[in-house]
Amino acid sequence: MKNIIFIAPPAAGKGTQSKLVSEEYNIPHISTGDLLREEVNKKTALGLEIKKLIDEGCLVSDEVITELLTNRLQQADCNNGFILDGYPRNINQAHIYEDILKKLGIKLGDVIFLDIDLETALNRIKGRLICPKCGTSYNLNVKELTPQKENICDKCSNILRKREDDNEETFSKRFDIYLETTNPLIEYYKSKKVLKTIKIDSTTTAKETFESIKKILVGKNDSN
Ligand code: AMP
Repeated sequence: MKNIIFIAPPAAGKGTQSKLVSEEYNIPHISTGDLLREEVNKKTALGLEIKKLIDEGCLVSDEVITELLTNRLQQADCNNGFILDGYPRNINQAHIYEDILKKLGIKLGDVIFLDIDLETALNRIKGRLICPKCGTSYNLNVKELTPQKENICDKCSNILRKREDDNEETFSKRFDIYLETTNPLIEYYKSKKVLKTIKIDSTTTAKETFESIKKILVGKNDSN
């Protein structure tokens, strides 16, 4: 079983790498941001509350996210492993996650930290586009992630758009929250000896990052 947690500031490429790993190892990519956006799209009262928090760059409550994630992890496609993108986001969620794993009889697996600096992340945010239909992420400031046709998804031909929370003001708030609440997870997982770090700068390509991830995962098998 391959369970992978990605920890990274916004715009480090978690989503892109999660998709690549998902395709390579045939395990689902679970993005808590996507789970929340699905709830927003349902336009329920909870969805509206969540939308407000996401648009302001704030974190959604641990209770809400725990419930969505627990339900997702019990689906059959998670039986051979999964990639968590965007969770845990703070120490409390890390503790809750361990309780969820214990309950479901699943091991923690690998924690991969994509270490990117603020300037590179901000530059990436400015160029980021997503496909609202299939979720593929593009980036006009990263050559290999530019769509083949301007503003059109390579995979499903849908029109691409900017995420509403990808503006400079919301981004800097999300980065601050990351430093304050998510960064402590790095020390936490280091102390558990499960943290693997990959450095990313303005010259690092998505392919290079993916190769580094594969090196970490090589040799990991079902008994993991
Ligand atoms: P992401 O797609 O991971 O950048 O997440 C988008 C937004 O969803 C975040 O800015 C938060 O508002 C919310 N979110 C995603 N994951 C979590 C989480 N684990 N805990 C709380 N809020 C989250």
